[in-house]
Amino acid sequence: MKARTKGVKALALLSGGLDSTLAVKLMLDQGIDVEAVNFVSPFCLCRRGGCGALEVAKNFNMRLKTINVGEEYLRIVRKPRFGYGRNLNPCIDCRIFMLKKAKKYAEETGASFIFTGEVLGQRPMSQHWKTLGVIEEEAGLKGKILRPLSAKLLPQTEAEKKGIVSRETLLGIEGRSRKKQIRLAEELKVTEYSCPGGGCLLTYKEFASKLKDLFEHKKRVSLKDVQLLKVGRNEAENSLLLRIRMANDYCFEAQDTGSPVTLLQGLKTRTAIEKAAELTAYHSDTKQGVVLVKFGKGRFDRSLRTPIPSQQKVEQLRVTWQKGADA
Ligand code: SF4
Repeated sequence: MKARTKGVKALALLSGGLDSTLAVKLMLDQGIDVEAVNFVSPFCLCRRGGCGALEVAKNFNMRLKTINVGEEYLRIVRKPRFGYGRNLNPCIDCRIFMLKKAKKYAEETGASFIFTGEVLGQRPMSQHWKTLGVIEEEAGLKGKILRPLSAKLLPQTEAEKKGIVSRETLLGIEGRSRKKQIRLAEELKVTEYSCPGGGCLLTYKEFASKLKDLFEHKKRVSLKDVQLLKVGRNEAENSLLLRIRMANDYCFEAQDTGSPVTLLQGLKTRTAIEKAAELTAYHSDTKQGVVLVKFGKGRFDRSLRTPIPSQQKVEQLRVTWQKGADA
């Protein structure tokens, strides 16, 4: 049965990755007027904001709304109702959060339905059959989210029942392999997409350890704190660290040798200062002997000489990931 798509508007959740790009293409090919919304979180890994969503929207000549999620999102990451995935990724809460925002935007813009590029069973936590239902219900969108790539394996949505989307043109893809999507992209001549698997720092073990430690030791965590966790590995990042540090932070830098910039937050006790200096010395280019480390608040106006600590000592201080009970 041919759908009545004339004048139908739909809102896509577009990451710019392969799946959401294909979902958009399928809807556009039905003659539906599509606008997309793209969420940019502090944990987004793509260098160009929006994971290439901008390019995809441009390519399809489609309107795109970018929503930057900040402190409100951070609170969800800190205390997710539905727990974490393998690392510190609260995927179920994250999807609910985004869909609630999308719902509001769809109401404002008069979109008849929302659709996503989700594929049944592709992600163990958030794309499981039962979980998709929970997410819909919690977002206040029960039966209202169309997933064009897996629709034939899922109950009919409101848009299909109303006849504004033709179920025959929807697909029944499931599982983790992306072979079918890559083939489909070739068939539909979709060439502009990026980050096929998406990119979220919360799914990275090392970053999750640092963030978990921050949550455990700091009552109020800001976006700036998160930004600090993300940098500190090369010269450009060193100067970024110096720019975005807080007024009370102490900075440390080894003298006359390649050195990272270390930030000390919280109490500046003698022990804390010595430890920060030791870590700076350990990560400097000098590998033995004693290192002169300069430090201070705002300026490097104080200094101390410190021996390079052993690897064992440094490892004891390292923040390591321990899966929580709800992970
Ligand atoms: S991987 Fe990250 S962005 Fe994607 S749903 Fe999970 S928490 Fe959200």
